[in-house]
Amino acid sequence: MEEKKLTPKERLKIPSQVMPEQDPRERIHNVDEVPYGYDEELARTEAMRCLQCKKAPCVKGCPVEIDIPGFIQSILDGNYRASINTIKLTNILPAVCGRVCPQEEQCQMTCVVGKSLKDVAKAVQIGKLERFAADWEMAQGETEMPEVKSPTEKRVAIVGSGPAGLTVAADVRREGHEVTIFEALHKPGGVLIYGIPEFRLPKQIVMREVENLEKMGVELKTNMVIGKVYTIDELFEEGFDAVFVGTGAGLPLFMHIPGENLNGVYSANEYLTRANLMQAYSFPETDTPIARTKNVAVFGGGNVAMDSARTALRLGAENVYLVYRRSRAEMPARVEEVEHAVEEGVQLHLLQNPVRIIGDENGWVKAIECIKMELGEPDDSGRRRPVPIKNSEFMIDVDTCIVAIGNASNPLVPNTTPDIATNKWGNIVTDSETLKTSKKGVFAGGDIVLGAATVILAMGQGRKAAVAINEYLASGVW
Ligand code: FAD
Ligand code: SF4
Ligand code: SF4
Repeated sequence: MEEKKLTPKERLKIPSQVMPEQDPRERIHNVDEVPYGYDEELARTEAMRCLQCKKAPCVKGCPVEIDIPGFIQSILDGNYRASINTIKLTNILPAVCGRVCPQEEQCQMTCVVGKSLKDVAKAVQIGKLERFAADWEMAQGETEMPEVKSPTEKRVAIVGSGPAGLTVAADVRREGHEVTIFEALHKPGGVLIYGIPEFRLPKQIVMREVENLEKMGVELKTNMVIGKVYTIDELFEEGFDAVFVGTGAGLPLFMHIPGENLNGVYSANEYLTRANLMQAYSFPETDTPIARTKNVAVFGGGNVAMDSARTALRLGAENVYLVYRRSRAEMPARVEEVEHAVEEGVQLHLLQNPVRIIGDENGWVKAIECIKMELGEPDDSGRRRPVPIKNSEFMIDVDTCIVAIGNASNPLVPNTTPDIATNKWGNIVTDSETLKTSKKGVFAGGDIVLGAATVILAMGQGRKAAVAINEYLASGVW
């Protein structure tokens, strides 16, 4: 098929290219990545589906406004270097975003192909193409490093090494400023390292991006809890000229139901951190144990719940029940994650809500009591409110519960810096364009500002903050 001669009608007839992936029966016994990625032929065929729209609504759907038709055309031309360079103009973590962005709600939601075929699932597979270009570059071994301007003698401290902090580090370092990242954990990457599992985002990808930043001259200090080792004021006393706070939303929320303090009840954060960061799946070769239990209940319907449920399967659970109070249509998790979870055997208990966790005589979980729900009128979130159905309680035997109903902002920095204003949820309040906080010289972005959001939104805020930090350091005007 000679692509240049294809009419839009012919392009619309090309089916969306399916990414090959590990068989569900095999993959629940390992932690290897599930989808294998496009090969060149699949990528170029998928790229042919793009209509190269002049106004390209997909670009507006991407929080960092990647030139999507541009990078797709380069794939079609076989010029993969040009493709990845186009993406990297606005996105420093393409291998990550290509894998974990909720594309069906962002770039792909507005794609003209999906609209014409009346199915968002049939949109051009922008994320998969982005992953292809990023993986191609990684396979070459060498990454083209951005130019760093001559030293300015200005110093910027970045608190937290998640996607927001990493993005700021890259954009501020390019201007020639000295950049030091302070990270509380022993490994950098934020949720990309401690939360999202290996089978969805191989850690080596994140570590490579961090190494690239170090090659640019960014200094990384791990095991540094800001608010304990130094306060924000002390960072200024140490000679930093500006501070960016990207400490994320790592404070787990609980349901406040009876039995939540029994042995065998985990927050999703703890469960996933044990499994991912501390590699408990390899215990006793690694130091951190995790309960290898048989019947696991996960509470929630977002990405964190899916990741917990699929991790429990890989740790050998025979039954994993995902208890969610709304229906599948309202689940906030990425569509692909829900499909993968179901394929792997996660049992969806929809329109149900736990009301009590029951323990045995030794204080270990043995069952949960749930109530059935129905959907009522829409609530503030626009989704229909789940309403309990009277006298519909029932029991499920479980030996582990994982609470994955959401996270709040990390409170340590706001608590130790009273002149940084926060809102009623504890999120740091910033100017929406400059990401300036109420404290001179301090900027903030990502989940600590937005509440639990997404990787690309955190990066989008990081980019805005970096522009404002660079302006502030150049002008000295707050
Ligand atoms: P984080 O990634 O949370 O990073 C904050 C960093 O700051 C952490 O490393 C933390 O250790 C450090 N820190 C905190 N306090 C301090 C301190 N006092 N001093 C020094 N360091 C500190 N988003 C998607 O787009 N797609 C997905 O598929 C997806 N799946 C997810 C799955 C899970 C399990 C979770 C938990 C989240 C998921 N998200 C997903 C959300 C996404 O990961 C976050 O929105 C994003 O990581 C936020 O980036 P951030 O840089 O603001 O913060
Ligand atoms: Fe789409 Fe995310 Fe890539 Fe933007 S960064 S084009 S939203 S996959
Ligand atoms: Fe291509 Fe879809 Fe973007 Fe149009 S909207 S340029 S078809 S990806």
